[in-house]
Amino acid sequence: MRKIVIAGNWKMFKTQVESKEFLQGFLPTLEDTPSNREVVLCVPFTDLSILSNSLHGSRIQLGAQNIHWEKSGAYTGEISGAMLQEIGIRYVIVGHSERRQYFGETDETVNLRLKAAQNYGLTPILCVGETKQQRDAGETESLITTQVKTALVGVDQNNLVIAYEPIWAIGTGDTCEAKEANRVIGLIRSLLTNSNVSIQYGGSVKPDNVDEIMAQPEIDGALVGGASLEPASFARIVNYKVN
Ligand code: PEP
Repeated sequence: MRKIVIAGNWKMFKTQVESKEFLQGFLPTLEDTPSNREVVLCVPFTDLSILSNSLHGSRIQLGAQNIHWEKSGAYTGEISGAMLQEIGIRYVIVGHSERRQYFGETDETVNLRLKAAQNYGLTPILCVGETKQQRDAGETESLITTQVKTALVGVDQNNLVIAYEPIWAIGTGDTCEAKEANRVIGLIRSLLTNSNVSIQYGGSVKPDNVDEIMAQPEIDGALVGGASLEPASFARIVNYKVN
């Protein structure tokens, strides 16, 4: 059975005070959310501990935005699996395009981080996606195939979420057409040995397009940046409507 996973990616937004304010507005909106929808918040490291305490026993799962592959060591600015596991973190985003673009993340380091997450019992959310230039050059399929195959060497497909995030759609308001996202996600699924891996779409998901996106047969959820920062808009996304 494929699980529905709706995850917010707060990126580098929200102090602890702001994150608690968000929860006050957001938690009551989950009362009628169908129980088969996994709701995840991937927040900055400084918010993880405080939210972990506040959310104990709630239906929201917490996710980090990065994990290092070594157990510990001289890796200034990084965070280990043990540190995340200790405070009850369940998910971690790996290979987000912003990490690839600004912090030198490669398919090889993504692979190491995926395995580290699984070694500590976390579920990694592997992000893949093409630039506009690559799409226009007809390279989407080959690029996605390389990203998925390289990242998944030695990775357990029983504990994995993948997010298809076309880079040109992230933070731009320029959503990938739902049917096209469905097609690429179908391609990603065809590369997997476990067809039950949940595959999300990410890239300018908003309250007004989420119903159409989630109606696509291959799409199992959403990874949501900007629209996850405000309780009402993330609530509408999590409570998407099914026809
Ligand atoms: C993201 O950060 O993964 C993302 C999809 O951002 P946005 O929803 O703002 O496009």
